[in-house]
Amino acid sequence: MENLGRINGKTELVGLLATPIGHSLSPAMHNLAFDKLGLNCAYLTFEVGNEELEDAVKGMRALNVKGFNVSMPNKMKILPYLDELADSAKFSGAVNTVVNVDGKFVGHSTDGMGYTRNLKEHGIDIKGKKMTLIGSGGAATPIAIQSALEGVAEISIFARDDAFFPQAEENVRIINEDMKHLNVKANVYPLENVEQLKAEIATSDILANGTGVGMKPLEGLSVIQDESMLRPDLIVTDVVYIPRKSKLMEQAEAVGATAINGLGMMLWQGALAFELWTGQQMPVDFIKEQLF
Ligand code: NAD
Repeated sequence: MENLGRINGKTELVGLLATPIGHSLSPAMHNLAFDKLGLNCAYLTFEVGNEELEDAVKGMRALNVKGFNVSMPNKMKILPYLDELADSAKFSGAVNTVVNVDGKFVGHSTDGMGYTRNLKEHGIDIKGKKMTLIGSGGAATPIAIQSALEGVAEISIFARDDAFFPQAEENVRIINEDMKHLNVKANVYPLENVEQLKAEIATSDILANGTGVGMKPLEGLSVIQDESMLRPDLIVTDVVYIPRKSKLMEQAEAVGATAINGLGMMLWQGALAFELWTGQQMPVDFIKEQLF
């Protein structure tokens, strides 16, 4: 409620277009940060699906909002309604943050940036590393693309034989062909090929789970069936943050590997969006203390 007291005729709007939306932590995160820094902005959510998206974006233009977030099911559908795309969005084919730059709507994807930034917070630079990444959906795709943009040396993507497998092949094609100038080697394998998974993890610095395995309704499960694939000098990351310690995180800790859950990625994707809108750093420690 403390935000409402400071809304006036000059308050700038930032929003979120998604559905379902009620569970989102973004309004609390951004409004607390606006308050803390004394910025005259307010973050509101709008229940918008694919059908309403084009009109909603037109409305955001007409209202000259400062910017907004986009979440499911709109992350890929919004691309044609924007004026420009940053590399993070162009190569991942998805947008989670739109910035109003003098009337031009520029799309970014801060999900992958949140992932790499969180690694940095743990003292890990992705540059020159080899990564084994499981998945090719809305979380895994920006992780793959941003890791490539930030100089990962090699990335091996494993995907289950389901509707997302073609996206895994497409992500690998984009990295090897469209992002050829970055000299990243990308490979794609079926997740069912356990021997290959073992071999790729054995030569990787980072193992990343980019799937919802470990979270409800798949809580208690892990993409890794055989813990002997893990080792103490492996960095194991998860996009899952509910629960904080997924089965994969437990497996990683049990062998003495570095275990990093998805909370930091979530926090930093918001912090980086905040920075794009306001030019100021989100008070991340304060937000963590208040919300997590
Ligand atoms: P999605 O539906 O777009 O993609 C799901 C992916 O998981 C696909 O690659 C699919 O093949 C794979 N998958 C599903 N079930 C599987 C199984 N049983 N075994 C192996 N692979 C399986 O979903 P998404 O948006 O990518 O979300 C995935 C997870 O990431 C969710 O748990 C979500 O909460 C989390 N997430 C976290 C963050 C963060 O900031 N930490 C951001 C986005 C999503």
